[in-house]
Amino acid sequence: HRLVIAVDGTSGSGKSSTSRGVAERLGLRYLDTGAMFRAMTWWLLREGIDVRDAAAVAAAVGRPAIESGTDPRDPTITVDGVDVSVEIRSDEVNGAVSPVSAVPEVRARLLDLQRAVIGDGGIVVEGRDIGSVVWPQAEVKVYLSADPDARAQRRAAEQGGTDVASTQQSLLERDRIDSGRATAPLTMADGAVHVDSTHLTLPEVIDQIVALAST
Ligand code: C5P
Repeated sequence: HRLVIAVDGTSGSGKSSTSRGVAERLGLRYLDTGAMFRAMTWWLLREGIDVRDAAAVAAAVGRPAIESGTDPRDPTITVDGVDVSVEIRSDEVNGAVSPVSAVPEVRARLLDLQRAVIGDGGIVVEGRDIGSVVWPQAEVKVYLSADPDARAQRRAAEQGGTDVASTQQSLLERDRIDSGRATAPLTMADGAVHVDSTHLTLPEVIDQIVALAST
């Protein structure tokens, strides 16, 4: 089987830009597992299902067809054949995705989809539990972090100048729920290399991970 690079870390630590950059440099596929949790959340909201009602969420998880495109230059995510790449970044989804992701039935359904996409490897996979649960046998495991101020500033800039303070609050609230949940909490996986991107540029972070993959 071929190389798998697992990139886990907090919200807004630069996982997506970094993972896509590494995949492009090494000619690998790319999987954004956060987009799958976001797509499930978007669908639940659209169906009018109460996302704080774990039993209602658990009963519905099998219904939407969620598919991820793995081209790092053009990652796509569809629900029942409809591209929702833009919709899944809304404030509404940001506010609901962590409680939805804490429901074990949601994780079990998406875990199967994630492992099917990974297949025999050749891929960079980003998320919260890739090195710990989804693919513990990954050849390279990275835990990416950055100071909250740096994360909020980058994310607010990405979103075209939204308010830094409220962006930071939203990131920290997701971290709190993602780290505290019972099933597959965000942690540093065994064997993961910690990369703190606070004072690094994107190309520098990409270089570090490419170097790890080449040793
Ligand atoms: O990576 P991103 O910020 O898009 O992820 C959105 C949310 O999806 C996270 O805050 C977390 O609740 C959930 N998630 C997860 N496990 C993953 C990836 C994302 O629980 N592997």
